[in-house]
This record gives sequence, structure tokens and C-alpha cells, in this order.
Amino acid sequence: MTIDSKIKIKLYNTLSRKKQDFVPIKADNVRLYVCGPTVYDYAHIGNARPVIVFDVLFRLLRHVYGEKHVTYVRNITDVDDKINARAAQDFPNLELNEAIKRVTQKTTDQFHKDVKALLCLEPSFEPRATDHIAGMIEMIETLLEKNHAYQAEGEVLFDISSMKDYGALSNRKLDEQKAGARIKVDEHKKNAGDFVLWKLSSESEPGWQSPWGRGRPGWHLECSVMSEALLGKQCDIHGGGLDLIFPHHENEIAQSCCAHENDKMANYWLHNGFLQVEGKKMSKSEGNFITINELLESDKFGGKKWSGDILRLAMLMTNYKEPIDFSVVRLEEAEKILGKWKNTILDLGLVFNKETQKEIEELDPCSKLLYALADDMNMSGIISHLHRHASGKKLHNANRLFGSLQLLGLVSFATMQQFQQAKEKQNQDVDVVFIEKQISLRLQALSEKNWQEADIIRNELATAGISLKDGKDEKTGERITSWEIKK
Ligand code: AMP
Ligand code: ZN
Repeated sequence: MTIDSKIKIKLYNTLSRKKQDFVPIKADNVRLYVCGPTVYDYAHIGNARPVIVFDVLFRLLRHVYGEKHVTYVRNITDVDDKINARAAQDFPNLELNEAIKRVTQKTTDQFHKDVKALLCLEPSFEPRATDHIAGMIEMIETLLEKNHAYQAEGEVLFDISSMKDYGALSNRKLDEQKAGARIKVDEHKKNAGDFVLWKLSSESEPGWQSPWGRGRPGWHLECSVMSEALLGKQCDIHGGGLDLIFPHHENEIAQSCCAHENDKMANYWLHNGFLQVEGKKMSKSEGNFITINELLESDKFGGKKWSGDILRLAMLMTNYKEPIDFSVVRLEEAEKILGKWKNTILDLGLVFNKETQKEIEELDPCSKLLYALADDMNMSGIISHLHRHASGKKLHNANRLFGSLQLLGLVSFATMQQFQQAKEKQNQDVDVVFIEKQISLRLQALSEKNWQEADIIRNELATAGISLKDGKDEKTGERITSWEIKK
């Protein structure tokens, strides 16, 4: 893959509510943080959307700035009350800490399998919240010192009225968060929107020693601390799904900016739209979800298994900010399109073997597609460029098609090699001698004007998946027939 510094990236920034030119703080270390899963249960295909969208962004950044100059952090949230509840439920006979370990390990392993199947690159770092507790305690101490936090009833809370710009990301005014007729304020909170930085744990709950007693951190704090630990006090891009804008990202900004006395935690905030089922966000609480694993391994959705690249394309057929209504029809469409693209790559002459690997992996994407990708990941533009190359007739089109699909993570040398081998096997399974014999019988029938017999042979071959194409030999003018396996 080449580095392409001519490409100018534009991104829609939730913070400014505008599409802006992307200018990294340091071009030799572009820094991206994406909120990762809370590992209490298998990820559903709605959770797959940010993983795929930000993987595409990561690939674009690597293409423009160089692989070594982009750092991508996606965390694992392995401390959360949902995890504790799941552990107690699934392993009632184990000591809670041991049960929690089992739940988080199993879920994390599954998540890794899932995202690999979706052809996502590994992030540069994948920090676990439990490895950063000391940093969390430190940040709370700083916030207390600077009067942005207070202790009440066994909790340390962030005081949102202590921050002038609180609510800038989600465009909420502090007045709206104040105690009012509609929001019941917990007695111990100064403002209804004050959120937990630390809370005490009971003896049976997991906890860490701190100046405020044995307890555990609040969720928002985890990302502030992991982002600082791996990307510094201010990074370039922070991303996640739309539902994270408030309160999660708003509160991350509050903690980080107040602790570091910075006006920004990240310069660009990106949010993907929801994956929906019948107009409703797919979520655990709605119960309208299907896990990535179920889609890949079971036949619960549309009566068959779907491969990760199909799900990936099904997501990428829509611009990332827009909602997707998920359906079997969408998967079928993605399957058809991807199959057509892969066939075109082979039909136009690319061969996937050891000798060709290096050259193929270095194939460049189509430059117009790159411009569309750099334009806030404009997927509709991207898909139309892919279709354009797929309808081309030259090896050049195959090269560009492969280079582009590879950049988007929709194919790799390995997936194309598998596809090629499967196709070769399918061809070998065909009895070539039999087909050639039937074709010559049919040609004979045609020459005798025995149309009925000729049609019978054609139809029999069609039933066996072989289609015939009649033509004329250019030199002799004789009738000839070629055949192919129907796609
Ligand atoms: P959670 O485990 O709920 O914190 O979600 C992990 C990530 O998935 C976050 O970035 C969420 O915003 C995102 N997410 C959750 N549900 C959906 C959905 N239905 N569509 C798109 N993104 C989602
Ligand atoms: Zn986060």
C-alpha cells in the first residue's frame, strides 16, 4: 500500500457540526480513539458498525499518512456493573472475581474472533480498563484538587456546573440538566447531570483501594484515562456510535479538559448512525438483536450462514452517519455484489498465487474512489466507482477494483485466493469430456436442422449449471459453441 499525501481528508465533526478539513496535530503520529465493547455479552451486529466504520477510517489514515504514523486505540471495558450481574448469573457457584474473569475473557475472545471475521485490522493498542485503575485514581485526585469534583455518600462525582462549556458536544445547556420539574435529582448531587467518577464497592463487589475507600471507577472515566495514557492529553479523532455523544463523550470531554486544563480532548468527534430493525435501534435492551457470531455461524437470519465480508459490505453500502435498516434482502444484495466483483477480478485476468502475491498486494486503489473516501467516507460515491471498474473489460479494471476493495478491507489476497480455489474446484467437478461431447452432438443436430434435439441438449446442460453461447469461427465461418458455468 502506498502513502498518498496528496489526498485531503474531510470529516464531519460532531463538535462543530460541520464537515471540516482534517489537519492532524502531528502528521507523523495521527491519533484515533474509538470506544470499544463492554465485555459482558457477545457483540451484536449493531456493535459491529462502529468497528467496521472506524476500521475503514484507520485504513484511509494509514494510506494517507503511512502505516507507522497512525495510532489507533480501541479499548475493552472490563469493569462495569453489567459484567458483575452477568458473572453472578452465569457462575453462581464461583467466587465473584473468578466469575468476572471468566465472563470478560470469554467475551473478549469472541469479540476478537468476530472482528477478525469482519476483516478488521487490529488496532495499535487495545487497553483494558482494569489495567488503568491507578491512572483513574490519579485523574480523580486532580479533579478534586481543581474543584471539579466532590465526594458525597460514598461516591466521587463530577460537578458539571464547574465547567463553563459543559454540553458543547451534545449541544445541551446546563439549565436543562439542572434540577427541574421533570428530572428527579438524587439528594446527594449538586446538579442532576453530575456523574460518578468513583463509587464504593460492597465486600462482594469487585473493587480497588483508593483514597475514598475500596471501590470502582465510573465508565466515562475509563476512556478519558486510557486515551491520555496511550494518545496523550489531546488526540486527533475520537469516535463511536451516535448514542455515545451524550452522556459518554460529553462526560469524557468534561473530565479530560478539566483535569488537563485543555479546551479540547480530541479535535474531531465522529459518530456512526444506528443499525436498526424495523425503525428501532438494535440493542440488547430492546431484545431485537442478533449477535455477530449468530450471523456468521447459525442460520437464524434468513436461513443460512453469512460470511464476514458480506456483513461488512452490507454495512458499508450506506453512508456511515445514516441509519441502516437491517434485513436479509440487504445481505443478499451485498452477497450478490461482492460475488460479482470477485468474479470480475478473476475473469479480467488477476491470478492469485505465491508469485503474484507481492505485486497484487501493492495494487493501488482507484484515485477517484480515494477522493470519495477522503470526503467524509462518502460510501455512495465509493460504491459507484467500484461498479464502474466492475463493468470494465481490461486488466487495469481488475487491478483498480482489487486495489480499491483491498483498501476498504472488503477483500484481501487471502480471501481472493480462497475464492479462486473454490471456483477452480467447482470447475474441476464439471465433467469437461461429457460437456464437449454434448456440444458436438448439439452442433450436429443443428446442422441437420433438428432444432428439437438441439434444444433438449441445451436445456439438459442448463439444468446441470452449464450455459452455452453460440458464435461463428472468424476464419472459417463455421458455427462454434462455447460454454461456461452459470454464476
Ligand atoms: P455498547 O457496548 O452499547 O457500549 O456499544 C459499543 C459500540 O457500539 C458503541 O460505539 C455504540 O455506540 C455502538 N452501537 C451500539 N448499538 C448500535 C447500533 N444499533 N447501531 C450502531 N452502533 C451501535
Ligand atoms: Zn468511551
